[in-house]
Amino acid sequence: MKKHIAVIPGDGIGPDIIAEAVNVLERVATLYGHEFSFEYLLAGGASIDEYGVPLTDETLEKARSADSVLLGAVGGPKWDGMEGKLRPEKALLALRSGLGLFCNLRPALMYKALKDASPLKSEIIGDGIDVMIVRELTGGIYFGEKTLAVDSSWASDLMKYSVEEIERIARKAFDAARKRRCKVTSVDKANVLETSRLWRKVVSEVAKDYPDVELNHMYVDNAAMQLVRNPGQFDVIVTENMFGDILSDEASMITGSIGMLSSASLGNGKSGMYEPIHGSAPDIAGKDIANPIATILSAASMLRYSFDLDREAKAVEDAVEAVIDEGWRTFDIASKDERTVGTKEMGALIRERIK
Ligand code: NAD
Repeated sequence: MKKHIAVIPGDGIGPDIIAEAVNVLERVATLYGHEFSFEYLLAGGASIDEYGVPLTDETLEKARSADSVLLGAVGGPKWDGMEGKLRPEKALLALRSGLGLFCNLRPALMYKALKDASPLKSEIIGDGIDVMIVRELTGGIYFGEKTLAVDSSWASDLMKYSVEEIERIARKAFDAARKRRCKVTSVDKANVLETSRLWRKVVSEVAKDYPDVELNHMYVDNAAMQLVRNPGQFDVIVTENMFGDILSDEASMITGSIGMLSSASLGNGKSGMYEPIHGSAPDIAGKDIANPIATILSAASMLRYSFDLDREAKAVEDAVEAVIDEGWRTFDIASKDERTVGTKEMGALIRERIK
């Protein structure tokens, strides 16, 4: 298979962790007979320094014409004082909207060997945590009409969803479940919100096209509780923008290690943008100590969701698990007396274990 990948290292630890993810993709290409070409693009602070803006139209166009986008992270103290539209983070929003990415996949995956990092008790964790949150990204209350009374005595935010918006995110969730354990929990607040009642109806309709996937519905307050009470019951959770924002952060925290978690943003076609959930960590940039695993797992998600290379994605994920099981740790996931390796060495260890 031939694929053209836009690579946006960004700022801070971005270039360090991206280098390891690209090395992993190259290894996969060699082992499995694929041809991946990489085009490096600037965004965030790096683009401000070079072009004066966080994202140029030309960069967006190149990202759009690539088969997929792999991103490190943007931002840092150097650009903190800049005015709103010139902040590095604007590049992310511009990329998400410019590429039409309405679906955010956030896996919360915890390895058994890293159980101690989780704030949850070991009997609750059981065999580990492996939940995929599918969050609607471009609709709902964050994008509805905003009003502030002239005298500031009241304000409102409109929560609005169309059938089409619900349908397309539901399909992404059912498709993702088919690549996992075939179970979808749709989270809403249908006892109170009209948008949620429509959400529930549309998701149930879409489910008819996926008879092999089990669907259940859960109120958001209960879902927040169940995630810390019994996370093992979940496979894929699909929910609207604001609920997803909150639940995905909760789900990430229960795994205990920010340097291990990937994310994917998808649109209508196969293309998507893949990035770690953490930021540019300027405090450890350029020191060869950042954990590259979240970015490597993001690259694995690209193989699975954009290129349908499930076997290759699994090979990368298994290699990460093998390295963790063997006891190799970057400093952020090491407990007190464990020996640590740097970014490059961690990348090399994972590469060597890809079968
Ligand atoms: P951060 O995620 O960059 O860092 C939080 C803490 O986690 C830091 O102590 C950092 O050293 C550590 N950390 C993060 N990633 C790590 C990794 N891979 N390995 C080891 N340790 C890691 O969040 P922050 O400090 O709030 O933000 C720093 C900059 O990143 C800011 O400019 C912020 O705006 C930006 N940011 C960017 C994104 C993005 O590009 N998607 C997301 C969040 C924050």
